[in-house]
Amino acid sequence: MCTSDSHSKATPATSHRRTFLRLSVASSIAALSSLSANAIAKQADKSPPKPENTITPQEAKNRLAAGNKRYVEGVTKRHDFLNEREPLATGQNPFAAILSCADSRIAPEYAFDSARGDLFVVRVAGNFVSNDGLGSLEYAVAVLQTPLLMVLGHESCGAVKAAIESQKDNKKFPGNIQLLADAIAPSVKKVLTQGDIFNASIRQNVIDNIEKLKTNSSIISNAIDQKKLMIIGGVYKLATGKVELV
Ligand SMILES: [Zn+2]
Repeated sequence: MCTSDSHSKATPATSHRRTFLRLSVASSIAALSSLSANAIAKQADKSPPKPENTITPQEAKNRLAAGNKRYVEGVTKRHDFLNEREPLATGQNPFAAILSCADSRIAPEYAFDSARGDLFVVRVAGNFVSNDGLGSLEYAVAVLQTPLLMVLGHESCGAVKAAIESQKDNKKFPGNIQLLADAIAPSVKKVLTQGDIFNASIRQNVIDNIEKLKTNSSIISNAIDQKKLMIIGGVYKLATGKVELV
């Protein structure tokens, strides 16, 4: 049994080992050069504003599925935004991060019947991984300890349609819209010979961006290896509101 007395009478060997451990922890934190060690320490010191969001990746996945089921069935919860304001003023600990399309018909907070402080959402037309988006999602994983990451595509996505038209018809789009088509083009090319090229491209785009998140970020891949994070993909069905996992 470990008593307080045994702690106070440390031998030179155990004392050395403790010093070494302290130094190892300190150097590991210092190694996270892309993040502020202070930011991580401050977050860890605080009790989470939403304790119910401190859950495992599988529990987070189940919670998204349950929220989407309520949304589909039209039995969403009444969210008390008033009572949430005070705890959320102290910080955030969302249980899921979502890379979603900017399409006005896809609102992750509604689709998963969630409240403020529950979802960390990055949105861009075509739900593809950009450097800025990746940095935002890394922040969710490394600093906010979010256990679940979802890439969420949807039916009739205009950005995916543009990518198909740029590949099949050599169509060019004005301004920076072409950049969206170019970003999704590699996924379209993989399914060009398939019958339902639109839905196949939407699905492939989700699959490829999940892969990108894993391969382009050691923060994300390490969190997956440590079983702290799960990445999943989904496609939102416009007519029913159902998110079908990819
Ligand atoms: Zn879209």
